[in-house]
Amino acid sequence: MDIKNIGIIGAGTMGNGIAQVCAISGFSVTMVDVNEQAVKRGVDTIGKNLARVLAKQKITQAEVDAAQSRIKTALSADALKDADILIEAATENLDLKRRIFADMDKIAKPGAILASNTSSISLTTLAAKVSRPDAVIGMHFFNPVPVMQLVEVIRALQTADATFEAVAALAKKLGKTPVAVKNSPGFVVNRLLVPMINEAAFALYEGLATAEDIDTSMKLGAAHPMGPLALADLIGLDVCLSVMEVLHEGFKDSKYRPCPIWREMVDAGYLGRKSGRGFFRY
Ligand code: NAD
Repeated sequence: MDIKNIGIIGAGTMGNGIAQVCAISGFSVTMVDVNEQAVKRGVDTIGKNLARVLAKQKITQAEVDAAQSRIKTALSADALKDADILIEAATENLDLKRRIFADMDKIAKPGAILASNTSSISLTTLAAKVSRPDAVIGMHFFNPVPVMQLVEVIRALQTADATFEAVAALAKKLGKTPVAVKNSPGFVVNRLLVPMINEAAFALYEGLATAEDIDTSMKLGAAHPMGPLALADLIGLDVCLSVMEVLHEGFKDSKYRPCPIWREMVDAGYLGRKSGRGFFRY
């Protein structure tokens, strides 16, 4: 399939990042959000990011202008009827995504791909609700989208090979590296990363070492650019905990049980950098 027009649903952190990367790669983009302020913030963020890249002389003013002119915005998914692929990047909530997928199915033209950037919701479940389950796929970008190289391309049980191939090819055209992943809780990155953070929380909980020394150990002993506890603070303890709960619930395996102190910290509002306190203080 020849993808030219890309529709993005959700103009938040991920949606505007995806829109930026698609526009700079030459695609026509329509970014939709139900919240007018979110659209405005999304467009502002793209402008600021492109200005930063321009200041580093990595692109020209003409390229910035051309990219910005390729981005349209709308407040309803009705604007996506000409899109060759619709990438849903709305709030992480199963009921909401089910409703959005039903709308996408109604609005999208025949042959269009229905993709989701979900971090944890089953693509097979989303595909089961639409009239074209073979066109449903996960296209999981990482934050910040313009910087992070990986896209997990997640096949629902129903996904057609042609859908997978078109999305993997699109990821490459966006300058990313796609990996093929089967639909499964946490996919690959979160399945490996978040249990490691959980184990670091257990190490702290058991008094094995201080938070500083746990992070120093992984930086100097395993060559990680950032320690697991500082990384959890950066991502958000609430976000990481919900991934851990998805793994625990999805596999029904006690090896994924979240560390009790972690849950208590979230209850206390110690969410990491965004609240000023997590495993460390900011
Ligand atoms: P966000 O809260 O920054 O943005 C979500 C946006 O969706 C909001 O602007 C909201 O107004 C909008 N929205 C809600 N309902 C909508 C609807 N019916 N139609 C259109 N827009 C609607 O969230 P985010 O961090 O950008 O996450 C979006 C998706 O990406 C989630 O599924 C999340 O799991 C996934 N994801 C997030 C990250 C991350 O690090 N933030 C990384 C990978 C994947």
